[in-house]
Amino acid sequence: EAAINRIAAGEVVERPASAVKELVENAIDAGATRITIDIADGGKTLIRVTDDGCGIAPEDLPLALSRHATSKIDGSDLLNIHTFGFRGEALPSLGAVGRLTITSRAPGAEAAQIRVAGGKMEGVKPAALRAGTVVELRDLFYATPARLKFMRTDRAEAQAISDTVKRLAMAEPSITFTLLDVSGGGEGRVVFRADRENGDLFDALHARLARVMGREFAENALQIDATREGIRFYGYAALPTYSRGAAVAQFLFVNGRPVRDKMLTGALRAAYFDFLSRDRHPAAALFIDCEPTLVDVNVHPAKSEVRFRDPGVARGLIVSSLRHALAEAGH
Ligand code: ADP
Ligand code: MG
Repeated sequence: EAAINRIAAGEVVERPASAVKELVENAIDAGATRITIDIADGGKTLIRVTDDGCGIAPEDLPLALSRHATSKIDGSDLLNIHTFGFRGEALPSLGAVGRLTITSRAPGAEAAQIRVAGGKMEGVKPAALRAGTVVELRDLFYATPARLKFMRTDRAEAQAISDTVKRLAMAEPSITFTLLDVSGGGEGRVVFRADRENGDLFDALHARLARVMGREFAENALQIDATREGIRFYGYAALPTYSRGAAVAQFLFVNGRPVRDKMLTGALRAAYFDFLSRDRHPAAALFIDCEPTLVDVNVHPAKSEVRFRDPGVARGLIVSSLRHALAEAGH
């Protein structure tokens, strides 16, 4: 069984950045207002995510490490369980391919700690922690040497982690994010920091995008907000004059989760088609929110594709609302 778990785990955890994504998403789901990520050696030797969220009660710690034992599917979700296809996989997977320690404290409970390494779980022990959760992952893929070979340089993996944290930070402007590189010990070096943004949805988002994508983007971005057939499409998209030679500044989110999807980027391209030459790409940070039944996110855990029940509606909404905003801005 341990071997099967390790194979399955490789599907969920491809590289350090995918571990960071899973752990930070868990912290977001736990209602954290502050999330701190420490990494060493590109995340290969250490990834530590600290949050001030709801914590895990001692008796629930072994459960959190059991495959498919998620606390996030209630009775009503069981009807559309395909939406959460890979729920309850992350922590067991990380515990199968690295040395995982979870320290946590739920309100009204004592702090406790559990360890799992290479799929072998130890018992729950008392610990010291005021509140929230600290998840520490050391020596990723030590238990799966074949995977180790696929990791790139520390620098490249650290870059991928930074990109991942920035994407997640864009979707959660009210959370304070800090990414520290603690390679070599000491206080560490701040790689990225974004303090919580205040204000309404668009004010907070605009401020956070200025922080992550830069002032120039924020100053050249059009506000988008349109809803059609239960799908809301909103965010900021740059004026055609502020386009990029590469698609690096395109950020798309479905129900708060970063996605990379050909249909969505194709729709974005189509909207700008008349204004951009072939080698230019519009910069944008755009969000699609809808009922979970209208879309499958995480068709595959590591690929973040999406599948809309009605792709035509989503595409039409994207193209027409972007064209409308561009026309209003005189294009
Ligand atoms: P999922 O997120 O799909 O439920 P995970 O394997 O990522 O599955 O996490 C398993 C469970 O552990 C979660 O459902 C949650 O109850 C608990 N958990 C994980 N991380 C945290 C955290 N940072 N704070 C509170 N609870 C957490
Ligand atoms: Mg999770």
